[in-house]
Amino acid sequence: MAQAAQYDVIVVGGGNAALTAALSARQHGASVLVLEKAPQHWRGGNTYFTGGGFRFAFDGMDEIRQLIPDLSDAEAQSIDVGSYPQAQFYSDLMRVTEGLADQELVQVLVGQSFPTMLWMREQGMRWVLLFGRQAFKVGNKFRFWGGLVVEAVGAGKGLADRLYELAESRGVSIRYEAKALRLLVQEDGRVAGVAARGPQGYQEIAGKAVVLACGGFEANPEWRTRYLGADWELAKVRGTPFNTGDGIRMALDIGAAPYGHWSCCHAVAWDLNAPPYGDRKITDLFQKHSYPFGLIVNLHGQRFVDEGADLRNYTYARYGREILKQPGRAAFQLFDSKVTGLLRDEYRIPQATRVQADTIEELADRLGIDREGLVQTVQQYNAAVQPGEFNPTKLDGVRTDGIQPPKSNWALRLDSPPYQGFAVTCGITFTFGGLRIAPSAQVQDTEGKPMPGLYAAGELVGGLFYYNYPGGSGLMSGAVFGRIAGRSAAEEARQQT
Ligand SMILES: Cc1cc2nc3c(=O)[nH]c(=O)nc-3n(C[C@H](O)[C@H](O)[C@H](O)COP(=O)(O)OP(=O)(O)OC[C@H]3O[C@@H](n4cnc5c(N)ncnc54)[C@H](O)[C@@H]3O)c2cc1C
Repeated sequence: MAQAAQYDVIVVGGGNAALTAALSARQHGASVLVLEKAPQHWRGGNTYFTGGGFRFAFDGMDEIRQLIPDLSDAEAQSIDVGSYPQAQFYSDLMRVTEGLADQELVQVLVGQSFPTMLWMREQGMRWVLLFGRQAFKVGNKFRFWGGLVVEAVGAGKGLADRLYELAESRGVSIRYEAKALRLLVQEDGRVAGVAARGPQGYQEIAGKAVVLACGGFEANPEWRTRYLGADWELAKVRGTPFNTGDGIRMALDIGAAPYGHWSCCHAVAWDLNAPPYGDRKITDLFQKHSYPFGLIVNLHGQRFVDEGADLRNYTYARYGREILKQPGRAAFQLFDSKVTGLLRDEYRIPQATRVQADTIEELADRLGIDREGLVQTVQQYNAAVQPGEFNPTKLDGVRTDGIQPPKSNWALRLDSPPYQGFAVTCGITFTFGGLRIAPSAQVQDTEGKPMPGLYAAGELVGGLFYYNYPGGSGLMSGAVFGRIAGRSAAEEARQQT
C-alpha cells in the first residue's frame, strides 16, 4: 500500500462540478488532484452529455453581452432575451419544487449564478446564445423564453473538453480510471484524503481537504430500485454509466447527513430504442422535448399528462416518471403538420424512432397503439380545443375544456396530416437525494455539524430539487457550488500549513 504525495485539495469526480472546484481551488493557491473514475475517452461524466445550457439570473442584454462580448450590435438588435431577475429564478425554483427546496442553498445558487458565469468566462469558458432550443422567431425578432438563454460553446462536449483544457493548463493533476473507494479520516475526525483504485492498484492519497463531486446514483440499478422504487432498474440512463452513488456512500459511511428527495429524480422522455446508457456521439439527442405542441398517449391510446401544463423547461424533468408508469414503459408523442416546423433538432436525427402517417388509424397501427383508443382520444381532444392565439414563446392559454387530463396551453387540434409519431420511454438524468451542505459547500454530519476537510458540489448535493427541476439548473448548481467548494477547500488547506 503506497502513501502518495500530499495534495492540498483532492477532487473526486471529473464533470462540471469537479472541474470548476479544481479551477477554483487552484485559483486560491492550492495544489489539486482530480480523480476521475472513467477512462480518459469517457471522461466528463453527465456533463459531457448535456446541451451545455446554464440557467442564471440576468438583467437584460447588457449582462448577456458581458458573457458574449463578440455579439455584434446588429445581432443584439435582432434578439429579445428579456431579463431573468433573481426573484424570478428563485420563485421558479421554489414553485417547481413545491416549496421544498432548501431556501438558503437556493439563495446561494440564484445570487451566485451570474457572478459564477462571469467567473467561468474569466477562467476561459466561452458562451453562445441558445438559439435552436430556447428561441422562436416572432415578427422580425428571435424571442427567448423560459429563463434559459446561454449554452457553452460546443454544448456538453465543448464544456467538458474546455474545462479539462483549462484545468490542465493551470497545473491541476488529473488521474483517469481512478476510482475513489473511501475517505481517509484522522483520529480527530478530519477528512485527510482518499483511498482509490487505479491502473496501478490500491492507493491511499493524502489531501488536506476533499471535494466530492462524483455525481448521483442514477447509473446504479440497485440503488435506483432501493430508493426510487419498483421498475426504476428498467429505466434507461441518459448519460454516464459511472455515477453509481460512490461519493454519497463514502460520505454517509463516515457520518454525513442524507438530505433531499431521495425517492425522486430527474427523468425525461427518451427514445424508446436508445441504448441502456448514454451514447457519446448522440449525447442528449435521444430526448424528445417538443411535446407541448402535440399529444402524448400510451399504448392504449390514452393521454396521461397535461402536455401544456407549463413551459417545457418546467415539465420535462418530471414527465419521464409518468412514462415509466405506463404499460410497457412506453409513450408516443404525436404531432401534425401545423407544428412539425417547431420541433427541436432532436426530432430530426436518423436514430429517432419515428413514423409518419396520413390518418390517425394508420398512425396508431404503425406505432403499435390501440387503434380505437387513439381515434377516440383524438376525437375527444379535438372537440375540446378552445379558440385562442397560439404563441410558442409564452403560456398562451390556448386550452381544452372538459377533458381529463386537460391541455392547458398550446392546444391545437390534431387534424392536419401528415402526422408524425415518436416512440419514447423513461430516461433517467440524475437523482435528487444526496448530501447536506452548508452555503460554504462544507458537508454536514447527521448532528448538523460541519465535517472538517469535506466539501461537496454537483449532482450529489441534496436539498435543491424536489419532484421537479427548472431546466439548466444542474450545470449552474455544479458550477456555483463547485466554485465555492474549491475556494473553501483551498482556504481550509491553507489553514493547516
Ligand atoms: C443527456 C443529459 C443532458 C443534460 N443537459 C443539461 C443541460 O443542458 N443543462 C444542465 O444544467 N444540466 C443538464 N443535464 C444535467 C447535468 O448533466 C448535471 O446536472 C451535471 O452535469 C452534473 O455535473 P456533476 O459534475 O455533478 O456530475 P457529472 O458531470 O456526472 O460528473 C461526475 C463524475 O464523477 C465521476 N465519478 C463517479 N464515481 C466516482 C468515483 N468513485 N471516483 C472518481 N470519480 C467518480 C464520473 O466518472 C463523472 O466524471 C443533463 C444531463 C444529461 C444526462
